[in-house]
Amino acid sequence: MKIAIIGGGASGLCAAISALRKNAEVTVFERNDRVGKKILMTGNGKCNLSNIDLSSELYYTGDRSFVSAAFERFGLNDCIMFFNGLGLLLTEKRGGIYPHSEQASAVLDALRFEATSLGAVFKCGCLVKRIKQGEPEKKGITGGYTIHVKETSDSGEWNKTYSGFDKVIITTGGKAAPKTGSDGTGYELAKSLGHSVTDIYPALCGVKCEGSFWKQLAGVRCQAGILIENESTGEGVSFGELQFTDYGISGIPVFQISRLIAGMLANKKKTVVDIDLIPDVDEGTLMNELSCRIMLLSDRSYEQILNGFINKKLSAVILKNLKLNPAATFEADEKVLSEMVNAIKHFRVTARDMNSFDQAQTTAGGVPLSEIKNTFESKFCSGLFFAGEILDVDGICGGYNLQWAWTSGFIAGEEASGC
Ligand SMILES: Cc1cc2nc3c(=O)[nH]c(=O)nc-3n(C[C@H](O)[C@H](O)[C@H](O)COP(=O)(O)OP(=O)(O)OC[C@H]3O[C@@H](n4cnc5c(N)ncnc54)[C@H](O)[C@@H]3O)c2cc1C
Repeated sequence: MKIAIIGGGASGLCAAISALRKNAEVTVFERNDRVGKKILMTGNGKCNLSNIDLSSELYYTGDRSFVSAAFERFGLNDCIMFFNGLGLLLTEKRGGIYPHSEQASAVLDALRFEATSLGAVFKCGCLVKRIKQGEPEKKGITGGYTIHVKETSDSGEWNKTYSGFDKVIITTGGKAAPKTGSDGTGYELAKSLGHSVTDIYPALCGVKCEGSFWKQLAGVRCQAGILIENESTGEGVSFGELQFTDYGISGIPVFQISRLIAGMLANKKKTVVDIDLIPDVDEGTLMNELSCRIMLLSDRSYEQILNGFINKKLSAVILKNLKLNPAATFEADEKVLSEMVNAIKHFRVTARDMNSFDQAQTTAGGVPLSEIKNTFESKFCSGLFFAGEILDVDGICGGYNLQWAWTSGFIAGEEASGC
């Protein structure tokens, strides 16, 4: 069985290994001069490759039962065994699974060494422009697919074709972080073979917000609770280190609910993000703390009383929003106090747009799962398979997107290698 894999990222490499283990002949076409560029960036260079709390509930997709079924076939334990089998020692940190060396390059090397030792042929510097299926009577049998590529090397650039592939697995990724090679060309390949692509938008990324104070807050980080209310899906809540930027908000707690925000913005819904700037202190306690300070330090200004509660730049913005002069003496007034507590516990900002694909970690949307079988083969084109981010599946932050890449890649590789 001759298999062409289009895209040498996480899912493509995993598909190559599982197919090779089933004795298929595998050629990986990769547009970059080397495979796995994005893997090196994952988990801040440490590669959070899975999570102990693996559940389809933590994925956005048109069909969660499809995702659950895939995890039953290749889930967390299979993933751990797979990487252990490649010689990689793993470790767990706050639920995330990482290589013990905390080097993403170790994950890429383990995948590359295995694929190479099993006989994978890597065609790097090959941008796949077109996949041509053979004549109807030849579909799914030897010689069914021809791959048209634009090949680049030190000596120039030219068009070339590679033919004689029985099966093709498209693992070109989505559109997130296009500098790594996944710039959406895979969607065009899918469409040219009769598939549709849902609306796509950046996910796991920062959120641009309305307001004129963002430049002032840029660089501030604090532990925060974030809540958004969504009419159809209910509340989205997350906690963690929030990062203020010159365009709005970012950081893990924002990434975790960015998909919800993206959906609301896409539906033109007003999206208010309610930020708790002191999530570990409840409103009553905060009120008492502030009252005690005012009694103890009766001559102090608003700015001085807030000192140490929240970042100075944040208190300046809050005081401005409340139209209070930071240098004026803090009034021990019940109304002012409760407005202040409310402003700290509910710092409300309105989302205006998602950050771009350049800054996103994954893509929301893609080729719908309704168009592929649970073997990851196309329902329209026999011998054509999909895996990874190109599919309409995206997980929250914490190893979920790579786990989807391993799971879908592994199954697609095994299935494609069957006759
Ligand atoms: C900064 C960053 C950090 C991340 N951290 C994590 C993390 O810690 N944990 C986690 O689970 N997920 C993380 N992700 C998400 C995760 O990396 C992706 O979801 C995953 O890599 C998707 O795998 P894939 O194989 O589908 O696509 P990709 O890894 O994007 O690979 C696709 C490959 O196909 C190639 N290609 C594209 N089009 C063509 C073409 N036409 N011809 C030939 N080759 C082509 C590309 O060059 C690329 O090498 C992170 C993403 C980013 C950007």
